[in-house]
Amino acid sequence: MVSVVRTPEYHPTEPIEVAPRIWWVGATRTEEMFQCHAYLVEAGDQSVLIDPGSADMIDEVLAKVAAIIPIEQVRWVVCHHSDPDIAAGLPRLRELLTRPEVAVVTEWRAQTLLHHYQAGFPFHLIEEHDWQLPLDGDRVLRFVLTPYLHFPGAMCSWESSTGTLFSSDLFGGFTDGSRLFAEDADYFEALRPFHEHYMPSREILGAGLSRIQRQFSPIRMIAPQHGCIIPEPLVDEMFERLGQLECGIFLMAREDLDVARLLRVATAVRRLNDALVMAHDLPELAVIAQRVLPDILPVSDIEMFAETVEEGVLRFGPEDGFVGTPAPMPEASPTSLVLDVGGRGAPAVVHIGLTEAADITHEMTEMFFRLAPALRVALNRHLEQRHLAHEHDELQESARRDPLTGLLNRRALDHFARPDARFGVLMLDIDHFKQVNDVHGHQVGDVVLRDVAAACRAALRTSDLVFRFGGEEFVALLANADRAHTVAAAERVRAAVDALAFPTTGLDHVTISIGAAMHHSGQPVDEAIGDADRALYQAKNSGRDRVCAGWQ
Ligand code: GH3
Ligand code: MG
Ligand code: MG
Repeated sequence: MVSVVRTPEYHPTEPIEVAPRIWWVGATRTEEMFQCHAYLVEAGDQSVLIDPGSADMIDEVLAKVAAIIPIEQVRWVVCHHSDPDIAAGLPRLRELLTRPEVAVVTEWRAQTLLHHYQAGFPFHLIEEHDWQLPLDGDRVLRFVLTPYLHFPGAMCSWESSTGTLFSSDLFGGFTDGSRLFAEDADYFEALRPFHEHYMPSREILGAGLSRIQRQFSPIRMIAPQHGCIIPEPLVDEMFERLGQLECGIFLMAREDLDVARLLRVATAVRRLNDALVMAHDLPELAVIAQRVLPDILPVSDIEMFAETVEEGVLRFGPEDGFVGTPAPMPEASPTSLVLDVGGRGAPAVVHIGLTEAADITHEMTEMFFRLAPALRVALNRHLEQRHLAHEHDELQESARRDPLTGLLNRRALDHFARPDARFGVLMLDIDHFKQVNDVHGHQVGDVVLRDVAAACRAALRTSDLVFRFGGEEFVALLANADRAHTVAAAERVRAAVDALAFPTTGLDHVTISIGAAMHHSGQPVDEAIGDADRALYQAKNSGRDRVCAGWQ
């Protein structure tokens, strides 16, 4: 609720002229958060008393009216709906307003209830009088129906000379009566719970509000029955924000009427709903949930688990920024909540760890029930993005792999070689490979390529990178290797290839020549590969099946 600023010139014991010839004549109950306002539209002997009030207010209201005009000048009593805080004072009113033509102005649905107060006033039904009431001069009080807000036949009225909207329960707020006028846009926070609890839904509220705006223009002031009067500078914003408000949360309150706690739940739902709309991804949503849920539960941590085709069960937790890592599905415990958000899709749960066992009330269950489909959407969106990223990675990976040998290809070399690191470089080339093809056929050539590639990989460390550089040429980058390591690794590869056998192919064995070089930190990688290539040339020229180093 908004903090209330005390307005010194507000004396609730006196009537207040809130617009020319429009008077606040309400009764202030400062001990309650439910102020009931009555208004007088001063119009000589056609004066109008608006929403006069309950049985216990009415004398105070009449005293205020009497301070402005002789009480008999009240000709009309508008009842915007039939609630007792509007109309239970009617019988007392009848005792003082004795002119026979004094009538209660309302709509038929309210009339059917109002006559139960047995006040004895005749009714003046607005729908039978062109939805308006002439005042003095060319002033007129016009009416509009705002169905189901919150009474089926609820209505509002508008005074033409001042542009005052008498909005009845609409624009009502919970306030402590210490000020009559709303002072800034924060006042919306007083409207929020009132509407959340009294109005049936955002759709119906929005429809009623636009009806009012279509019918009445300009609206210079909103004089509601509860809360504060809304002055012109705040009118548009209050209309706009109210039109977006989710209402009808009383549906969740069937079992519990602790309004404060219900409001907390309602606020949590609203913030989570907003987050679902605004949050771009699951991590963002989870971070918001982590901020919001502790208002209603002793939350220690929130994790999400979802089953994926590619990666099994993934856990999304705050430690790793909700990136998703493999983990088993969690079990529920007395100090945790496991919410199924899987719907009809793959199994998925939100796991809420609690610092202590907590009562999960009916409305919390409802809240989670309502959130589950939305969470499901967010989760699916996340998993879909993850899947796409995965596919993208696979595509990238396959673009960097040589299909025959499974080694990285030459394109990948640019991607993986780190010019800032120091490493050993080997250039490897199978000896007389053309002959292998010529004598044993291309298919045997392919087998040789595959086996040589595998032998290279097996002879080197996993941190070393091996590339198929061209036809039967390979490059190996040996991480953190010095000259001695580089030559030793080359020799291991050479021996491994020499030891390869190719049964059933008719090929006895193959040899490989290797040139070794060093890459120094900061050196272009191509330069080091060039050094290794020259060393390879040397190895070929000096008889093949050997390792030559590019340094002396
Ligand atoms: P050297 O000892 O001087 O390296 O002689 P070489 O015969 O190995 O060298 P050369 O460059 O003359 O021949 C390489 C052969 O490798 C020619 C080409 O047909 C063959 N080759 C290149 N890629 C493939 C492949 O993917 N599969 C097969 N089977 N052969 C390939
Ligand atoms: Mg060659
Ligand atoms: Mg060759």
